Amino acid sequence: MKWSIHPTELKLKNKWSINGGSVQTKKHPIITVSDDQHTGHGEIALSTKEASNDLIVEQLKRIDFSQFGSQSDIQQSRLHPAIKHGLELALIHYLVDKNNSNISQFFSLKENPSIKTNFSIPILPVDKVANYIEQNSVHHYESCKLKIDGQKPLDFIREVARNYKGTLRIDANECFTTASDCLALINKLHDIQVDFFEQPLGRDNLQESELLKKESPWPIIGDESLQNEDINSFHVTCFDGLNVKLAKAGGPTQALRQIQQCQKLGLKVLVGCMVETSLNISAAMQVGQQADWFDLDGFLLLENDPYELVKNNHGNLTLNPSKGSRS
Ligand SMILES: [Mg+2]
Repeated sequence: MKWSIHPTELKLKNKWSINGGSVQTKKHPIITVSDDQHTGHGEIALSTKEASNDLIVEQLKRIDFSQFGSQSDIQQSRLHPAIKHGLELALIHYLVDKNNSNISQFFSLKENPSIKTNFSIPILPVDKVANYIEQNSVHHYESCKLKIDGQKPLDFIREVARNYKGTLRIDANECFTTASDCLALINKLHDIQVDFFEQPLGRDNLQESELLKKESPWPIIGDESLQNEDINSFHVTCFDGLNVKLAKAGGPTQALRQIQQCQKLGLKVLVGCMVETSLNISAAMQVGQQADWFDLDGFLLLENDPYELVKNNHGNLTLNPSKGSRS
């Protein structure tokens, strides 16, 4: 097997801003593993907050591919989870190409998943909200996920709700410090239909998060509070559900394990993504198909998706049959 790595530059349709970071282009290395007959690719997708992470750049410069003969070699490495994900997905794509199968079959899951994603709205000036919703046809989606920060979140949420009739999913990316600040916002929005409130508090803030979960009428979902570890009592105490992402988990195998652990422990599952291509999104659809909610619009935010492995029909995502589900 031969491994290689190629940088890919991805341009976004609109500037993407969340609490803690902002990007207009992303550089995602693509890992390829091949022999004379078979090939697999995986994408190293960084979160917006990590878009220029020096640790990742350094690890990639010094990476020794000869150490990766199997999935467990990759899983046991001490590399950044996004790199481990790129490596494992490339290897899985290579193996399914060799066996003429797909990722669903590889993990013994139902084939040809069809899922409904929300569409995302980044942090925007309030006077730009109506135009963003119109330009991106957000009304075609049953739900939208809006990013907020501490700057006038109420005005922003009200403006979205005034221009969009579906349900809202609110992602605060850790911008609040107390449960009472979160509840003050929630209590002003009782007339708005909200699926969940994602990561309002700091990722390690056990005390306030536990309090918020007890008091909140909206389900509270953890995202930054879950990285690549197994689900544990902190998650169960502080959240109603968790956002599982393949790149964050360190690969498809650990993401599936997190999903199954959530389901055993009675936690809801949101399968999320980075701003990334359909190479990764198609894998997330297959691995995460049993989830309660899907936030897999990352490839729809790109000006150009080089893989075209997923078809979108008004938020209904299916694997693109003309491309197959392997890559
Ligand atoms: Mg989030």
